[in-house]
Order: sequence, then C-alpha cells, then structure tokens
Amino acid sequence: MYTRVWIPDPNEVWRSAEIIKDYKEGDKSLRLKLEDETVCEYPIDRQGSQLPFLRNPDILVGENDLTALSYLHEPAVLHNLKVRFLESNHIYTYCGIVLVAINPYEQLPIYEQDVIYAYSGQNMGDMDPHIFAVAEEAYKQMARDEKNQSIIVSGESGAGKTVSAKYAMRFFATVGGSASDTNIEAKVLASSPIMEAIGNAKTTRNDNSSRFGKYIQIGFDKRYHIIGANMRTYLLEKSRVVFQAEDERNYHIFYQLCASASLPEFKDLSLTCAEDFFYTSQGGDTSIDGVDDADDFEKTRHAFTLLGVKESHQMAIFKIIASILHLGNLEIQAERDGDACSISDEHLNNFCSLLGVEHSQMQHWLCHRKFVTTAETYVKTMSVQQVVNARNALAKHIYAQLFNWIVEHVNKALHTTIKQHSFIGVLDIYGFETFEVNSFEQFCINYANEKLQQQFNLHVFKLEQEEYMKEQIPWTLIDFYDNQPCIDLIEAKLGILDLLDEECKVPKGTDQNWAQKLYDRHSASQHFQKPRMSNTSFIVVHFADKVEYQCEGFLEKNRDTVYEEQINILKARNFTDLFHDEKDSMPAPPVGKGTSSKISVRSARPAVKAANKEHKKTVGHQFRNSLHLLMETLNATTPHYVRCIKPNDEKLPFKFDPKRAVQQLRACGVLETIRISAAGYPSRWSYHDFLNRYRVLMKKRDISKNDKKQICKTLLENLITDPDKFQFGRTKIFFRAGQVAYLEKLRADK
Ligand code: ATP
Ligand code: MG
Repeated sequence: MYTRVWIPDPNEVWRSAEIIKDYKEGDKSLRLKLEDETVCEYPIDRQGSQLPFLRNPDILVGENDLTALSYLHEPAVLHNLKVRFLESNHIYTYCGIVLVAINPYEQLPIYEQDVIYAYSGQNMGDMDPHIFAVAEEAYKQMARDEKNQSIIVSGESGAGKTVSAKYAMRFFATVGGSASDTNIEAKVLASSPIMEAIGNAKTTRNDNSSRFGKYIQIGFDKRYHIIGANMRTYLLEKSRVVFQAEDERNYHIFYQLCASASLPEFKDLSLTCAEDFFYTSQGGDTSIDGVDDADDFEKTRHAFTLLGVKESHQMAIFKIIASILHLGNLEIQAERDGDACSISDEHLNNFCSLLGVEHSQMQHWLCHRKFVTTAETYVKTMSVQQVVNARNALAKHIYAQLFNWIVEHVNKALHTTIKQHSFIGVLDIYGFETFEVNSFEQFCINYANEKLQQQFNLHVFKLEQEEYMKEQIPWTLIDFYDNQPCIDLIEAKLGILDLLDEECKVPKGTDQNWAQKLYDRHSASQHFQKPRMSNTSFIVVHFADKVEYQCEGFLEKNRDTVYEEQINILKARNFTDLFHDEKDSMPAPPVGKGTSSKISVRSARPAVKAANKEHKKTVGHQFRNSLHLLMETLNATTPHYVRCIKPNDEKLPFKFDPKRAVQQLRACGVLETIRISAAGYPSRWSYHDFLNRYRVLMKKRDISKNDKKQICKTLLENLITDPDKFQFGRTKIFFRAGQVAYLEKLRADK
C-alpha cells in the first residue's frame, strides 16, 4: 500500500496524492501519483522537514469528531468537514469541545420541536453533532455542576451565528419552559425580532446582518425553569445610520416604518417611502428579496407588545425613528456671504415637532458652534460641510441612545424578582475580520476576538490538563500559543488604545501624530509592524492573521463627538415629555442621556458659560471596559463553543469553497485547537475499544491473559518502539498524532 498524502493546491487548497517511490534521506523530491493518475515530482528540502501531510485511513474519514482523526492537521480537518457536508449533508461536526457549524443556506428539517425533545436529556456522544446537543450539554452541566454556562458563537458575517444563537435559545425555551403562565420564555424569544429590527441591516454579505454584539443571559430557577433574561450589547455600528454603502441598507426598522407610513396612526410622522429619505436610500435598492418590511413591522410591534412596551411608548420610539429620517433630509445651503449656512424647510419643522424641541434654537445650533477660550466664549457659523457632519453626528447619537434605551427596556421586561439559581449566556459576536481597508471598527472587533481566543486557549489547555490528571498520566508540557503579548500591545498601559486616548485629549491631536507615537513606542513589539510604504497605517499580527489598519478617522471615531449645544436642546423638557405621561415611571428618555454636560438648557444659547471640561469616556475605553466585564463573566462560566463557517460567498445551498473554508478555520481558532490537541496526545482509546480493534495484531498467548491493560501494554510496547508515542492512563490509552494511523496500517497489512 502506498503512503497517501496531501499536497498544496491553488484551487482546492489541498489535494490528494500517493507517494509511489519511498523517500530516502537526502532526496530532493518525492515521486507522486495524483488522483487523475498523473505522476509528478514533488520538491522537498534535504532534511525532509517539508514532507507532505499524511492522509488519514479511510475508516476515520467522516468521523463526527475531528479529534478522532489520527493525523490532525489542516488538510485532514478540511477534507473531513467537506466530505460530511457534501456527501451526507451534515452541517455539524465536533472538533473536540468545539461545534463546527457550516451554513447550509437551505432550510433543513432538523430543528423541529420533536428534534429538541430527541436531544433533551441525551448524552452528547450518543447523538449526531447538533446545536441542540451543545445546548443540552450546557443545560445538563448547569444542573449537574451547579454552575453557570455560556455558549460562545463566533464566525464571520453571514456564517450563521444569529441563527445558531436563536436555535440555542429556542432549545432552552422548550426544555426550560416556565410551567407557569408568565409566558416568560415567549418574551425571551420576542427580544430577537426587536433587536434585529433595530440592530440588523442588509449588507453585501448578509441580508440580515447583526451590526452589534450581544450576550444574553437566560436565568433559571432551582428547578431549571426559565425565569427571565438580561442582555448586554457591544459596539453598535452607528455610522450606518447616516451612511450606507452600495447595495446596503440602514437598520431594518427605518424601512419597516416607511413601509407602514400610510397607516392612520402614523400620519403625524410625515413619512413617505424609504426612497425619499437620504438616510435610507444611499445604498440604491431599498428592498430585500423575500422580505416584506410592512409584515416585519407588524412582527416588531407584536414583539414590543408582548414585552409589555405600551402603545404610547412604541409611538415615542417611532417618532424618534421618523425624526432621524427628517434630520437626514434637511436642506443645508451656503449663504451668499461665504461659509455661513441656513436651514429652513419642512423637514426641520417635522424634526422639531416630532421631538418637541424648539425650532429657532435647533436651527441656530445646527449652523453655529460655540468656542470657549480662557478669555472668552464666542459663537461662530459653521461651513456647510461642518453642518452636515454635526447633523450626522447628532443623528447617530439619537439613534444610539434610542438603541440603548430599547435594550434597557427589553431588559426591564425580562427582569424578574424571582431568585435566579443559575444562568446560561449566549454570546453572538462578530468574528475576526479583515478587509481591504480596516479601520477603528475592525480594530475593536479583532481586539475582542483576540480576547475570546485567549479565553478559549486557556480553557482548552485547562481541560487537557484536567484530563491528564484524571487519567494519572505524566503531564507533558504542551506549548500553546498565548496571545497575551498581542493583547498587551492593544490594551496595556501605553498600548495602542492608551496612546489613542492620549492623542484624543491633546487639543491639536491628529491621526498622523498618533501613528508616529505608535511607531516610536511599539516598533520593537513582535505583534506590531510599521508598513514600509505607509506613514498612516500600522499592522497588528493577530492570532488569526496580520491586519493593516488605516489610522485615518481613529481619533474621530474614538472621541465620538456630538455638539453639546445640540444635545442640550434635546434635553429640554418638551422632549422629555415624549416618554413621560403623568402616571408613568419610565426611565429617562433616550436622547441626551449619558452625556456629561453641565450646561443647562437655558444656557444653551450663544456665548454663555464655559463649556463643560469633563471628558467623556472614549469609545475605545468603554469597549475595553465592557470586554473586561464580558471576560470576567465568561471566565466564571463553563464555556461551550460554536464556530460558524460560511461555505461560499454566493449564499448557495451546499456549495463548499475550500479556500473560504480554510480561511475561516484559521481565523476562528479551530486549527489552533487542533494544534494544541496535536501537540499532546490527540488520540484516546479506552482499553476495551483498543483491544477490540487491534486484537488481530496480538499473539494468541498474549490474548489469553485476562488483565486487559496488561495485554494492551505488551502489545503496544512490541509494536511502537518509541515510548514517548503513547501513555497508559487509568481508563484510556493516549496516543501521539499519527500512531493510530500507523496501527491501522499494520492492521490493514495483516
Ligand atoms: P452577521 O455577522 O452578519 O450577523 P451571522 O453569522 O449572524 O452574520 P446569520 O444571520 O445567522 O449570520 O445567517 C445568515 C443567513 O444564513 C440566514 O439569514 C439564513 O438564511 C442562513 N442560515 C444560517 N444558518 C442557517 C441554518 N442553520 N440553516 C439554514 N440557513 C441558515
Ligand atoms: Mg448575526
């Protein structure tokens, strides 16, 4: 039998071949026969250190756990996933403790209620891999270990994270039904359409792309029934409110509302179709195939109602949404005398009346800015471009505040006073990403993934260690990649984020100066590089890939400035009333909250008091804090990992593009798990199973002994000469990579 190997291929990534002439030390090439029978010489270096990867025996291919493979490497992982996906339409495969989920882009009959019941109460190993199996495992361990759990779902845009997270939540709602009439599990599920309406949008990659991260904790009582939930969100993409790229849309809610504008209750909103508004039409097509925005709007409203958001408050939300659309349509013109500008049109009227703010003040502060020096405070007119920028900043601010307010509200509705015994958290967060041009957003996202990867590595490492101890085998140090140095580069004192904050405080700070400070300070770091051809970008060597970030815009995005005078107008009483009817004890209104201004509404007139000197926390700073909190939470739970893979970019059912798949497997840490696993003893067999399979390799007189362990020991010591290649544990035999394949070969040759 020839040795079968994998060789690199530009299209398939890896292709199969057979070595048809034995390799001898010093050979410069191998003679290979490819699958199409052609023979070729495959160059290798003199030490033979670049010998191609070996193929696994066929009996292992199609295994539902990749770590059962004897040769654990990228081609083996890729091949196995592909065979399962294409030949048996299995979208789920385990890779040790990770569930790999490949998006089928087709409705599969594997999510019905009866499937949930089939998985409920079962052991993971007895069932096909499934998101329900992971959910069941979390549910079971919560009860068994009395410990909080989390399910961490990651993957790139369109890979299926949100769908997976929703199925996991449906599983809990079904098996943890509250048995009372509070309908709490229906409420928990109702949070999804609301969050998708206000936080999801059509992008070129995904018609329903989540533009924020979410961690939702589902609370259980001591009988493990759902009693409530709470969610935290991360980094909403605010820029989308005022700008959409070609073929993309703003947040769904804007289109839903426009599609329902003709309803009598929305007459006062003065809305027309989405094509008519600048903030909803920049991407071109305002519709999505297969989506009826008016229908979806009914679902959004229904979900609000189910969560107990009153009609009047829903109306307040819709008024704010409408006001943002009007704000985007303001006609801003340069006046004759140069850069001054004037705004006056019906959209401004609509904006002001919807928010109940004073027209003249708003008009004034849209066009003017207050400047404060030590000596005096004065007011200046802004240029048209400045007015547009300030207007956009205001629109983003209003939307972000509304978003937070709704999240708070959903949380209130899902809050319970019943004592929570334990929780399961589901994290649906953007995976590692790298584009042609990477900016502050990608930087934050990749920073988050760097932290999550570290959490993952430590967990895998700890589990391995525990398994070794349980089996009482000597601990061999596995060297695993610790990304702490990369994390330090980003978040430690005088790290990238710190220097960014510093630069934001300097009155004349610029992106360019910041870049220079980064080069001065970090050029020696292993994880930092200055691109040779650029003085305005920097490279971070992340665990998944090198990413070049363009410095332009970092300061601005980190500061996230809005003009206080504008905000102050919105804080005026009239507006507050939007959310306050007499007997109501609603939380403060969304707009204006969270700014640290000390100027009262009355003083929001030209040239009054000194402007507020308090610095509000930068976006980077807030994000770092929320990530730390997330990590603390995750570390106090037992984690379960789901890695979603997008198999092709055309959204075609059951099409597998190996290049794209490998790219994601590298980025989501699956291959890193494999590496950690392969560095130790990746293959494990119980004495019983081992004996059953390899009995044929034993001598008769050895089999007659009845101590199973001893039989295995004698056999292995005869077959494998290097004692480092295996270890005898209490209940299992541990093998180094490749040993099982070797035994298989002996067995086949027998
Ligand atoms: P983003 O980061 O952009 O939010 P995502 O990873 O959350 O992306 P989803 O919105 O969950 O991606 O999935 C994208 C689309 O892929 C879904 O709208 C659905 O059409 C399809 N899809 C995902 N998972 C499945 C599945 N298990 N079965 C069928 N279709 C799926
Ligand atoms: Mg999503």
